[in-house]
Amino acid sequence: MINLVLTSDQRTRYSRMLALPNVDEQAMKSILDTHVTVVGAGGLGSPILRLLTAIGFGTIRVIDHDIVDLSNLQRQTIYNTDDIGTPKAETAVSNLAPMNPDVVFEPYSVTIREDNASDLLGGTDIILDGLDSIKARRAVNRASQELHIPYVYAGAIQHYANISTFIPGETGCLHCLLGDTQDTSEMTCENVGVTPTILSLAASIEVQEAIMISTQKEPSLANHLLHMDINQLSFDRFAIHRNEDCPVCSKKLSKEPAEEDDFMVTILCTGSFSISPPTRRKIDFNAVAKKLPAAYKSVVTEAFLKIIKDDGITITLLPKGNAVVEGVTSAKQALHDYKQILDV
Ligand SMILES: [Zn+2]
Repeated sequence: MINLVLTSDQRTRYSRMLALPNVDEQAMKSILDTHVTVVGAGGLGSPILRLLTAIGFGTIRVIDHDIVDLSNLQRQTIYNTDDIGTPKAETAVSNLAPMNPDVVFEPYSVTIREDNASDLLGGTDIILDGLDSIKARRAVNRASQELHIPYVYAGAIQHYANISTFIPGETGCLHCLLGDTQDTSEMTCENVGVTPTILSLAASIEVQEAIMISTQKEPSLANHLLHMDINQLSFDRFAIHRNEDCPVCSKKLSKEPAEEDDFMVTILCTGSFSISPPTRRKIDFNAVAKKLPAAYKSVVTEAFLKIIKDDGITITLLPKGNAVVEGVTSAKQALHDYKQILDV
């Protein structure tokens, strides 16, 4: 615990928080000392990140593998029209940073997966879910258990949301709740839509849970699942229990080894493909751009290298080797184009 006294500016900035009956200066200092990670900077992640930044969570890690698309802007409220085509993690951070000088940001433009989740989430105090895939959530859940980091889970689609808080060693985990449920191609925001209002509501509840954890209070959704339907304006809170035979959080069973030591290709909500290489390495954008065929166009910035091939396919390369490929119709073609650009 560092110096307990807030600065004069902080007392003013957080005065409405400090006026709350359950938030004293020490609680506010705890929030400022908390390191949170938001996985997914999209529909849920955007309102989560705005709230965390304004409230004053001192370090915010942002993990996202996507780029900003025109179809995101209806609900992903931390991005502007000018941000289309840029990596979400870096752009989120540059848009949020002016909101609060007390916050340090850590952007990671990578795909979270079984073989890197512990590495990406290590050193953080609370994980907040802004994801749109069960596969990625499973990787987060496993790492949360392994690292003993509380995980505030949320999933939202159409006008529904589910939220729960998993505290390793105290509650069950996401696997206890979902069992073997897998992603389906039908239930995506592209196919069935999602209303921005359910996302803001779910995000607010996730952040409230983070405040409870950060200030050493019992989170309201530990051992509970909240199901909300904003169309009916119904809120149902169910008790949920640990599955004693859960392969992830039960101490009786050994953990499954990490998998996916190969390239991972994920179809994004926009129909583009995200490529995640098996190992992260720093990419020299200028060196890659120099080797491109003359007919290709490229734009180099600090955060990304955008390549427009002569057939119109666009590849946005991110600093650690992740990429988003737009304009292809299959995962195979996306990976082929990526490998050709990088000679791998
Ligand atoms: Zn479990």
